[in-house]
Amino acid sequence: MASDRGPSAGDATSRRRIEPWEFEVSFDPRELCKETRLLYEIKWGRSQHVWRHSGKNTTNHVECNFIEKFTSERPFHRPVSCCITWFLSWSPCWECSKAIREFLNQHPRVTLFIYVARLFQHMDPQNRQGLRDLIHSGVTIQIMGPTEYDYCWRNFVNYPPGKEAHWPRYPPPLMKLYELELHCIILGLPPCLNISRSQNQLTLFRLIPQNCHYRMIPPYILLHTGLIQLPLTWR
Ligand SMILES: [Zn+2]
Repeated sequence: MASDRGPSAGDATSRRRIEPWEFEVSFDPRELCKETRLLYEIKWGRSQHVWRHSGKNTTNHVECNFIEKFTSERPFHRPVSCCITWFLSWSPCWECSKAIREFLNQHPRVTLFIYVARLFQHMDPQNRQGLRDLIHSGVTIQIMGPTEYDYCWRNFVNYPPGKEAHWPRYPPPLMKLYELELHCIILGLPPCLNISRSQNQLTLFRLIPQNCHYRMIPPYILLHTGLIQLPLTWR
């Protein structure tokens, strides 16, 4: 239900929220902006308290900044488990994937979930391998869908009063295309999705399926992206 109050009322995290325009630009599946945004939350042990904050690239990528900040600023109680959730505007590059794996090796009590709005340079075999390695080391990686956009808007964005349900409605088919491509990466298949910029700066999404994609990708995902259609029968 919409409230006439913004998130700042009674919310100690409001000063750490990002502005609506920042969220809208950073996490739009159609925008190929250079900046990477990270929204993250941390839960310790069985505590119900959730620590939320955000970060972006500096001279280092935002993932490495997070690891540096986390390991240097926080007293790490080894016996206590820690659950970290990232909402990233771009998926990690291969170098960050490597750094994340090293971080998790050093901190076995940490569990990491990553939601990404877009796949970063997904045609690059090194980036594809980096994501596969992360998944094989126990990290969950998923594409952000409407549920995650809604969640981030409510919990990380300084939305205007009464606009708590007004998260940006990006086209769900684009999220399905990224989901398809993530499956290709996980299964070790060649790219199925080509993304380019037109002369008038529109982002073009083009499917380039091969036989292996039809053989290996789960049918429900092919259905979502329109690569296969249910047979229609007429009586
Ligand atoms: Zn990186």
